[in-house]
Amino acid sequence: MKPPEKKAFPLNRTPLALSSVPLPPEAPSRPGFPLRMPADYGTPSASKKMFVRTAPSSLLASPRPLINAQTTAIKLANKTKTPSFGHTDAQSFLALRARMVQNLMTQGVIDVRVLAAMGCIERHRFVDTALANQGYEETSLPIGLGQTISKPNVVARMLELLLHGQSGKLGRVLEIGTGCGYQAALLGQLATEVYSMERLRGLHDKARDNLRDFRLLNVHLIFGDGMLAYPRGAPYAAIIAAAGGAALPTAWTDQLAMGGRLVAPLETSHGVQALVVVDKTPNGLQHSVLEAVKFVPLKSGIS
Ligand code: SAH
Repeated sequence: MKPPEKKAFPLNRTPLALSSVPLPPEAPSRPGFPLRMPADYGTPSASKKMFVRTAPSSLLASPRPLINAQTTAIKLANKTKTPSFGHTDAQSFLALRARMVQNLMTQGVIDVRVLAAMGCIERHRFVDTALANQGYEETSLPIGLGQTISKPNVVARMLELLLHGQSGKLGRVLEIGTGCGYQAALLGQLATEVYSMERLRGLHDKARDNLRDFRLLNVHLIFGDGMLAYPRGAPYAAIIAAAGGAALPTAWTDQLAMGGRLVAPLETSHGVQALVVVDKTPNGLQHSVLEAVKFVPLKSGIS
């Protein structure tokens, strides 16, 4: 596959000025810092910027994006088709998805881009039919080959971190761990180009099947070892990993653009896995350690 022409993308984000946040022994509630929004957040111009190419223009007028996020999500969801399930099922999944978005807002997710994407992409279509009814519950679900799809709250959290401080869409994004393809589909709404790598052939193929009906032309699935990243698409505005190891592969930070951000689970010295954010700045890499998480292990090689 020929990667798209390398062009400049907006990298105007201010790095998080963070020292490490000490990890509590148990998984804590969300720390507050990433929820700080741009100064113009909530104004009509800001919501226009945020909704660029993700929502119909008729939805852009309101100066109250937080309240409108759910409406937007539901309207977007109404527009999407569910060919593999009947009409009644589609309606009930729509209601479940709307409730998931509502729950995410209650739990503190405020980025309208993330809420709209999660209201639009049908999570139930990425799990086995037998699990479809649990598709919108706040739980991780098996996707085969011993792997899991993260619970919605964790997915939303990572996407918010990736987008934080960046208006509009991200440029090229690399995802490590395609799994069933759900997060890749969300990224397809939030970035101009998405490269998603999976080391297990079975899941790579499954994600390809799952994503076919969504026709996301900007999402490219790559079968390969994500520890090596994907130089053909580099440099990336953002890198997101759905599997965690004891160290961050240097290929990830090497292939991150200046001003870019990496969000990944990482084993900490406390012996627990935590979310880390790494910003690549002219002064070097800035690491921030956030809350404890539980992701599947990052493994090398393909299988
Ligand atoms: N984002 C996924 C979550 C998948 S779980 C989703 O929405 O479904 C994490 C995935 O990371 C697993 O499928 C696992 O096989 C994959 N993985 C682990 N190590 C990897 C590596 N080195 N390269 C690519 N994928 C890897």
